[in-house]
Amino acid sequence: MGPDYLMNIPFLELKSGYLEFKEEFDAAYHRFMESGLYVLGDEVAAFETEYAAYCQSSHCVGVGHGLDALHLALRALGVGPSDEVIVPSNTYIATWLAVTQAGATNVPVEPDPLTFNIDPSRIEESITKNTKAILAVNLYGQPCDYDAILDIAQRYGLKVAIDNAQAQGARYKGRKVGGIADIECHSFYPSKNLGAFGEAGAITTNDETLADKIRVLRNYGSRVRYYNEVQGYNSRLDALQAAFLRVKLRYLDEWNARRSKLAQEYLTRLSSLDTRIVLPSVPSWADPVWHLFVIRHPERDALQKHLVDRGIQTLIHYPVPAHLSGAYASEFQMPDSNFPIAESLASEVLSLPIGAHMTEDQVGLVVDAVQSFPN
Ligand SMILES: *Cc1c(COP(=O)(O)O)cnc(C)c1O
Repeated sequence: MGPDYLMNIPFLELKSGYLEFKEEFDAAYHRFMESGLYVLGDEVAAFETEYAAYCQSSHCVGVGHGLDALHLALRALGVGPSDEVIVPSNTYIATWLAVTQAGATNVPVEPDPLTFNIDPSRIEESITKNTKAILAVNLYGQPCDYDAILDIAQRYGLKVAIDNAQAQGARYKGRKVGGIADIECHSFYPSKNLGAFGEAGAITTNDETLADKIRVLRNYGSRVRYYNEVQGYNSRLDALQAAFLRVKLRYLDEWNARRSKLAQEYLTRLSSLDTRIVLPSVPSWADPVWHLFVIRHPERDALQKHLVDRGIQTLIHYPVPAHLSGAYASEFQMPDSNFPIAESLASEVLSLPIGAHMTEDQVGLVVDAVQSFPN
């Protein structure tokens, strides 16, 4: 066990985000309570306008959470039973669950082990006559290779949806993510870069028809109350969360900049150590927002324990690849369905603490602790 001052670096601490702008959040709460309108209404509409502008996208539609954003986006794209959707083999399971909820089949494609994102050069070999869409992910805060993916989609007549749960504010070739693909899906789960104080999500798109479909789907399939055009869902962005998100959105770039500074500190200091760590690599066209700072190490479990013994909390994103999880293992038992890159990442990745309210001194303590791990 290390000395006391080392004993307390949590993976992520959320309350500081409230305290930093407490007056504004409290004012938003009171405004909401006084409004007398508790579902949809002005706060949701205002957040949608502001977030669409932030993403350089024409439309934003708020929904209940990130999984619903993905599910409703696929429905709006017309994905259904007998369709196949290309997904990354390395992602949070929500990406796959959305495809399953839409009634379609997941077709996993392996990632580039250095960027962790779907490898576009492996997509074409997985396309069949049933492929309807590509659902790529901006994993760990880093944009996927949009141009390469959109180019393939165009050649094969496929739609492209993006799971942008982890990369609010990131840029691809200078453009904000959220306004590039056919439809992009966002989660505002509290731990995300733009996090609410509860469940929240949204889709962004430049396609008015898609935005309109989601607006109808999220609200029981109705545009006019009690006139139900389609079999819809109840997945409205909570109005109180929208009010909170409007406050947070104003500080998102500043908070992302803090994360970026910490990530640079990690990259510089860890790269000078003589360890078996593999650092995340950032393509020249990517401006990531460091939702997570994910390293790889062949003795990941021992390193994690070493850090915990020194009071440093780390997490693993993710310990079980979706195709081996209880949710999907039975579907993926065919001899040709193995995903060795996703499997080796699952055994090697380790997410070091990072967040807008972490300090550079804390990063220094994490680096010191990593350095003391026997090489
Ligand atoms: C968080 C997350 C989701 C799901 O978001 P919820 O708001 O929890 O439903 C989907 N995909 C990825 C990659 C995520 O990280």
